[in-house]
Order: sequence, then structure tokens, then C-alpha cells
Amino acid sequence: MKFRRAARLAAGLGGLAILAGCVAAERRAADGAPPTPPPTPDTSAAPRPAESALTFSGVFEQGGWMRGRVPRGTGAVLLGRHRIEPEADGQFFAGFDRDAPLRLAIGVDGEDDALRREVVLQRREWRIEHVNAAIRPPGSSETFLARRRPELERIAAARARRTGAQGWRQVFAWPAEGRISGLFGAQRIYRGEPGSYHTGLDIATPRGTPFTAPADGVVVLAAREDFTLEGKLLLIDHGQGLGSAFLHADSLAVSEGQTVRQGQVLGTVGASGRASGPHLHWGLTWNGERLDPLLFVPPR
Ligand SMILES: [Zn+2]
Repeated sequence: MKFRRAARLAAGLGGLAILAGCVAAERRAADGAPPTPPPTPDTSAAPRPAESALTFSGVFEQGGWMRGRVPRGTGAVLLGRHRIEPEADGQFFAGFDRDAPLRLAIGVDGEDDALRREVVLQRREWRIEHVNAAIRPPGSSETFLARRRPELERIAAARARRTGAQGWRQVFAWPAEGRISGLFGAQRIYRGEPGSYHTGLDIATPRGTPFTAPADGVVVLAAREDFTLEGKLLLIDHGQGLGSAFLHADSLAVSEGQTVRQGQVLGTVGASGRASGPHLHWGLTWNGERLDPLLFVPPR
């Protein structure tokens, strides 16, 4: 499993991904237009739109991502339900949710509709994983919700922050060494009871092992007091709506508002919150879409 995924990623990066930006060429009509114009006004006589200058490349599958470019000063990029504001240099980032539709319309706001294209994603098969843990922590659900609600509010507020970080431009690095003990997207069965899917990649490593920033960013949440499920939780904004989450830490070495560089130590791995043993849970989100961290890092 691990090697198959690695091979697919290598193919994506090695070939510098799929240059979907060339698709617009297909829209050029064949040469040899009729010499006489039609007698009545017809929309087909309208001048053909120029080719879109939108280009992009990436890993085109559910949980994947793309980086793209439009000329400076161009309007927002429209991708499915998202409106993406490019950086000043025209570059932008987008991600594809685990359950993203397999075809997404893409275009530039204000540009001719005829220039709209489609991003086609490969469908993923998600693993079923059995977890030897209760589906929810012990205690009455009212007590749990009273504690949980403010935690979820803090997470949502942190994820909504826009820091201008530029780490989204980088090739991501592994945040920790160790055995992969849980795959992104896996449907989890807790002692026979189906739960939600696994939202990150689990890297099993002894308690106290340092973990590092996979890319540049800004710390938007550093919870030193355990969250119910996540334990000591760290959220990093990488810019363009892309963010990392690290769960179950034993200790955190950074604080909210702090700028971090790729490779910088963020804390140590632990088993805080709901965890069956010490491991680093690494999640990646882009504007609410959940992405697969394995599709961001080089194979190993
Ligand atoms: Zn996990």
C-alpha cells in the first residue's frame, strides 16, 4: 500500500504533474472558415475568445492539490464552489477534498465562459480500518458537548485566519520519521461501530520525538491544555487557505502568532487527547476541504 502510493506520487512530481493548462488548445476551431458570412446575424459569427492564460499543475485525485498561475491583475480563479484570490504575482493554490466530485469547472472571474475548462480527478479507494477504542470518550454527552463546543469554535476561528504565509509554494517535507500507522481517508470502525473517516496521516514514533514544520507558515492555534479529542493541538497556516493540523502532541515549542520555517521544531510527539499510543496525526485542509498529506511529501 505504502509503496503503491509512493509510486503514484513520484509519477505526479517527476513528470512535473499533469499540465492541464494546455487543454484550452482543443477549443481552437479548425482552420478554413466559410468564405461567405451567414445571411442572418448568428452567434457563431462572434469573434472567437482568446485562449485562457490560466495554467495549473498538481496531483489530480481526491485528496490532491494543484498550484496555478494567471497573469498579474487577473480576477479571481473560480474552481467548483471556490473563489480563489491569486497572490500579487498571479500564483494560487487549490485542494481537492477526499470526497470531491470527479469533475470540477475552472475558469477566471470575468473571463469568457467559453474559456471555462474542467479539472478531472482520479477516484480514490479508501481503506477500512478497525480501531480498538470507544467511538466517543466516556462521560455523558452533555458534559462532552459543553467542553467540545468552545474547542470547535477555537478551531474554526483559527482556520479562518489569513496570515499571508507563503509555505503553500514549497515542496512539503515530512514532519516526523516513523512508521505510517494510519492513512488519510480511511473509514474507521471503532469496536465494531462505524465512525467518521480518518482526517490525517498518522506517523507512529516514540513519545518525546520532535516533529517539524512541513512548510513555512504562521501558528494560528497552539493549545497547551488538552483538547478533548486532539489533545495538545497545533494549527499552522501555510497561506492561500492551506493549513496543517498536528494532534496529540506531548509538548509544543511554538506559540500563536509565531512565524515558523520549514524544518523548524514545533513540539514533541505524544498521546494526548484520544490516542491509543504515541503518534503524530498530521492533517491538511484547504478552505474546508480535507487533503491527503501523503500527496504533498516526497516518497520515502
Ligand atoms: Zn490520526
